[in-house]
Amino acid sequence: MKHLFLNSDFALNRLKQEYARYGSLVIAVDFDNTLYDYHQQGLDCSEIIELLHQLKRINCTIVVWTASESTAFIKTYCQEHNIPIDSINTNPPFFTSSSPKIYYNELLDDRAGLAESYHRLLALVTYVANLQT
Ligand SMILES: [Mg+2]
Repeated sequence: MKHLFLNSDFALNRLKQEYARYGSLVIAVDFDNTLYDYHQQGLDCSEIIELLHQLKRINCTIVVWTASESTAFIKTYCQEHNIPIDSINTNPPFFTSSSPKIYYNELLDDRAGLAESYHRLLALVTYVANLQT
């Protein structure tokens, strides 16, 4: 592969380097069919939610990045289901930009390689845990 980020190891190493530099990462997470069973077909989102808890424990910021206009519902749903989010469609306070696209180090999205980003972040959490022991 010519493009460096088509190499999974390269992408994980970038996350490790960014985490080492900042002691934190910004994780964007989609809502519908990533955190929430939009079609009510029995989709189990618990592994993604558990990953968010693990990411919070290593000081990451979680931003819901969604096309949904139902932000009140999302906020309530996340509170009621103990899903740790910091904001919805807005950058964290330490990152200011006039761009409509939020900043993130990794994206969890059922439409954007959820399996790969999930496993990459799980590998990062494990890596950080091993550094701390
Ligand atoms: Mg989705």
